[in-house]
Amino acid sequence: MPRLTQVDLVELNRAFDDRTPQELLQWALEMFGTRVAAMSSMQESGNVICHMMHVNSIELPVLFVDTGVLFQETLDTRDLLIKSYGLNIRTLRPVLTMQEQTERHGVLYLSPEGQKECCEMRKSAPLDAIKGEYEGLITSLRRADGGRRGVCPILAVDPRLNLLRINPLANFSDEQLDRYIQQNAVVLNPLHKQGFSTIGCNRCTTPVLPGEPKRAGRWRHLGPWSVYCGINPTDLDPERSPSVDFHQELIDRILGRQTDFMI
Ligand code: SF4
Repeated sequence: MPRLTQVDLVELNRAFDDRTPQELLQWALEMFGTRVAAMSSMQESGNVICHMMHVNSIELPVLFVDTGVLFQETLDTRDLLIKSYGLNIRTLRPVLTMQEQTERHGVLYLSPEGQKECCEMRKSAPLDAIKGEYEGLITSLRRADGGRRGVCPILAVDPRLNLLRINPLANFSDEQLDRYIQQNAVVLNPLHKQGFSTIGCNRCTTPVLPGEPKRAGRWRHLGPWSVYCGINPTDLDPERSPSVDFHQELIDRILGRQTDFMI
């Protein structure tokens, strides 16, 4: 099977730096048709993507991983997005409840090794259920969030799910995000107003104090503020050049190549 590597996407990613998020959403739709979905964890960037899909009549499924230990406010935000924007949100869940997991494995999230295991079981593994259904996945990583996201590409290959991740907001600054939210009265997770700059599981997320980095509230008990759950492959090892197996025709379309089959 032909391969599409991250290196193959360098030129396209450079060209896409000038595109608006709405143009990138349209590109994803034209490229993958019904073989693309969005994914959101019900934080502000994901909600902006959901709003853009709503106003541009882009009817794609939105994947949402419910780890079973999310804040009630996050679940309420999902329900409000369905009601307000008419979204088709598909909730994915881990095999074990948190209680079952704790009975079998103990309280994992309190140690660095256990956190990796817990995030793998409760966040990454549930996404495996969609492998093969989609060739594109729209996510909402932004470089302005800093840390490992500071260099996140607009297009990123995802070898685990064998699909292309599209980050239409990669270039969106904090100011652009705030302006879009205010001008469009975007539905927001109420926890943002309570000091949560980013929001994950209730076991591992705390508010952030003024002056702290945005991700200081994630896995605060593990420090030093550099933990990522692994659901986004570019968070894990941004130096690698992974690849995915796609049909040649799809690779050519993504890269904008014209193939002359008469030759
Ligand atoms: S964020 Fe914490 S509770 Fe949630 S899956 Fe990861 S380690 Fe487990």
